[in-house]
Amino acid sequence: MTFTCRQCGTCCMYLGDYIVIDHQIGPFEFACESVSTGTGFVARIDDDKREIFRDHTFPEKYPHACRFLRPDGSLLRCTIHRDSPAQCKFYRCVIMRVSDPGGNPVGTVTGTLNLHSEDPRLRAVWEAAEKTIPESLSDFEERRKQYLTGQGYQVT
Ligand code: SF4
Ligand code: SF4
Repeated sequence: MTFTCRQCGTCCMYLGDYIVIDHQIGPFEFACESVSTGTGFVARIDDDKREIFRDHTFPEKYPHACRFLRPDGSLLRCTIHRDSPAQCKFYRCVIMRVSDPGGNPVGTVTGTLNLHSEDPRLRAVWEAAEKTIPESLSDFEERRKQYLTGQGYQVT
């Protein structure tokens, strides 16, 4: 299945120490460093995200989040999608790692909310969780984790 980022922002919430702004070089242009690879890059805020970038309430509230992450309605969006480092562009997230009661890994759930597992019981439990806990609920991720835990799985 093709991976599609649903722009939940979960993977960027603690990357503030890894995607670092060195200095500003224009109104919407920054010299940056990707700390994990030690490479510099120039980030220009995407034309259509300049309005949301101007509001610094979010980075002030979440100091560990990447400086380029901003809320946009129900989404958390990267405001330098065009110029973001390669590791961001190719990142494929895992938001839940599921183990059986013995601690053996049996599946992962990606940010697109797809379960990847060969375990038929876990697949059935996840399908039941999808039916009973819809994505429209604001705390659905936490509730689905609790659902899996209630079925004997360990979720991290
Ligand atoms: S540059 Fe964009 S994709 Fe990369 S961590 Fe920051 S907000 Fe996330
Ligand atoms: S956690 Fe996954 S779905 Fe969410 S923003 Fe990151 S890559 Fe996209």
